Amino acid sequence: MKPPPFSYHRAGSGEHAVALLSALGPRAKVLAGGQSLLPMLNLRLADPPHLVDIGRAEDLRILRRAGDRLVIGAATTQSEVEYSSLTAAVPLLAEAVGYVAHPPIRHRGTVVGSMAHAAAVAELPCVALVLDARFTVLGADGVRTVAAGDFFLGPFRTAVGPGELVAEVALPIAAPGTGQAWSEFSLRRGNFPVAGAGVSLTLHHGRVAAVAIGLSGVADRPVRVPSAERILLGAVPDDELITRAAAAATEDLEPRPAADPAAHILPVPVAPVPGFDYRARVARSQVRRALTTALARAGGTR
Ligand SMILES: Cc1cc2nc3c(=O)[nH]c(=O)nc-3n(C[C@H](O)[C@H](O)[C@H](O)COP(=O)(O)OP(=O)(O)OC[C@H]3O[C@@H](n4cnc5c(N)ncnc54)[C@H](O)[C@@H]3O)c2cc1C
Repeated sequence: MKPPPFSYHRAGSGEHAVALLSALGPRAKVLAGGQSLLPMLNLRLADPPHLVDIGRAEDLRILRRAGDRLVIGAATTQSEVEYSSLTAAVPLLAEAVGYVAHPPIRHRGTVVGSMAHAAAVAELPCVALVLDARFTVLGADGVRTVAAGDFFLGPFRTAVGPGELVAEVALPIAAPGTGQAWSEFSLRRGNFPVAGAGVSLTLHHGRVAAVAIGLSGVADRPVRVPSAERILLGAVPDDELITRAAAAATEDLEPRPAADPAAHILPVPVAPVPGFDYRARVARSQVRRALTTALARAGGTR
């Protein structure tokens, strides 16, 4: 199918993009890699009258270390992040980005675009939540910073308003003694996961000094699971504790029907998805795997 008609505007910089968005009105949309937006246009799930392409805005093509953060600009592709030696400092991102779709999609799709699209099953929004990422949002009224915990509002909904642009995301460099891991199950390699889990775990003298666990695919947005985190915090972790934490990980979640848009990769069902109970079971097993790997990487026993 062909997309509905739209007018195309190429932004030369972040500031130019915001000026265009503000001049073109609230229905104008940012076009980043187009790997989610173009399928939505083709399927007539979106009909923005104007697209503002940020792909050639050089000031948004950023990948740099700034203090204890890795900063990724809105035009930086998933492949650029995947193949940069800088990314190793954020092991959860380094691992998860390789699970996003296939190489041709990662060559065009952006890290920030995936987070801004906010599919509840996607890998990178969950990574942002686990790591307490910070988003820099530009708008006609200036710049604001939004923490990942306040960014994801629901399936395909974020705190970014009409006329605003996410200019960059900043992710913390892993502290010494930290192990991180992403684990997911998908029906085919490269598909969106049925459910996935991201873990960041820091050991100090053998005890868990900090832990963050996030899930994708089981709620209307990526979620942290504090009940599982509490089981581990301060403890000397072992297999039994990991099993308990994994069991607790889905305890506080609301059961959701399979028809729930949270379970889908686009705002309407494009393929049948497994029911909530199955996704929750998958999520628990991914938590167990991610915790076991993160613990080993942190230098703890398994
Ligand atoms: C076949 C296929 C398989 C895929 N599999 C996966 C997968 O397994 N896992 C996964 O996570 N993703 C998958 N994707 C999606 C892919 O990761 C997209 O690249 C990503 O979701 C969106 O990034 P993008 O840069 O292409 O954004 P676009 O498609 O250009 O934009 C997506 C949305 O975000 C908005 N947006 C983008 N950037 C900004 C910004 N800077 N500020 C404000 N709003 C912005 C756009 O307006 C639009 O609404 C798949 C895509 C395809 C086509």
